[in-house]
Amino acid sequence: MFNVEKIRKDFPILQREVNGKALIYLDNAATSQTPQQVIDAIVDYYTHYNANIHRGVHTLSQEATDKYEAARLTVQKHFNAKEAHEIILTAGTTHGINLVAHGFASILTKGDEVLVSALEHHSNIVPWQMLCEKTGATLKVIPMNTDGELIMADYNQLLSEKTKLVFVNHISNALGTINPIEEIITKAHQVGAAVLVDGAQACPHIKADMQALDVDFYVVSAHKMCGPTGVGMLYGKEEWLNKLPPYQGGGEMIAEVSFEKTTYAGLPHKFEAGTPNICGGIAFGAAIDYMNTIGFEAIDKYEHELLEYATAELLKIENLKIFGTAKNKTSVISFNLEGIHPYDIGTLLDKMGIAVRTGHHCAQPIMSFFNIPGTVRASFAFYNTKAEVDALVSGVKTAQRMLA
Ligand code: PMP
Repeated sequence: MFNVEKIRKDFPILQREVNGKALIYLDNAATSQTPQQVIDAIVDYYTHYNANIHRGVHTLSQEATDKYEAARLTVQKHFNAKEAHEIILTAGTTHGINLVAHGFASILTKGDEVLVSALEHHSNIVPWQMLCEKTGATLKVIPMNTDGELIMADYNQLLSEKTKLVFVNHISNALGTINPIEEIITKAHQVGAAVLVDGAQACPHIKADMQALDVDFYVVSAHKMCGPTGVGMLYGKEEWLNKLPPYQGGGEMIAEVSFEKTTYAGLPHKFEAGTPNICGGIAFGAAIDYMNTIGFEAIDKYEHELLEYATAELLKIENLKIFGTAKNKTSVISFNLEGIHPYDIGTLLDKMGIAVRTGHHCAQPIMSFFNIPGTVRASFAFYNTKAEVDALVSGVKTAQRMLA
């Protein structure tokens, strides 16, 4: 039995009040909340074994190194990567994407094409535009339909032997659409293109299997899955990571340095210049362990119940429109009330202690597609409840009355 009340006790922040009301946190797609188990891992690190890693002979340094490398193994196991050195610990999704885009600057040439989906977050658009400017490659867009689903027939048409790289998110942060990445990857490989999947929104909901997906690159941020900010994973197939040049130069990523020539360290260190977010990496491992004790199947089932309930209840509100009506979607609801700016609704909800996101959600092309300035986005996690959904629905009704 999924015991949400017991789970909620793991999250101290859920006890706090906002504007005199019990906090109802429905901005999980922006960042998830942190369970005590992860907070404990952070406190333990700074209390007992804070030290720099990899080069130290002293005990603290060895303890920190062991824990950091153990976290890498936890990440590897969770995402089922073949090798631990295929896991690069980054500062997050944005960092991982930029690392790969930088590497492809030495691979792409004029005449090459790269495909991006219409559903992307800015961080999976802008680095590729910069790459195309640098290399003369052309960026083409896989379009979407009015449900917020990618049009796969158009994707098939766009693919050709000119396509070198496809980048697409696993789940859209703005609409919640789950993209058919298995098919996208298979089709891209048939023309010899590599695929980068932005898993930032998928990682709190889906246990993605790197080997089963046969994906070339997969990126996530720990803070989307109960971990801290400033740390994440870039998974890359070994053959690709060997092909790409280092992203940043510095300590940790070298084999030998002289003023004449520097040789680089092997994987994963080649891509991990400088002192990493040691505590963050360790806490990332703790977050993955925590989520696995709840279990991804149970999480998925429970969140779907919340999604279906919230969708049905919100749609009872007059003049409310939901954007993103894909058949296959996760617990994100983007909506607007006719004639009312999303920001005004978000501000009033905050007065009631309800945290939602408003605006373009770093996905302006999606907003342009629907010809709207933005939406109100409620995104649910496994620690939210039906009572919180009821409070949201009643809060939206109140806001509508006040703003009409
Ligand atoms: N891609 C998607 C789909 C996201 O939702 C986000 C975070 N909103 C990002 C990328 C960027 O993640 P980060 O800011 O942690 O690098």
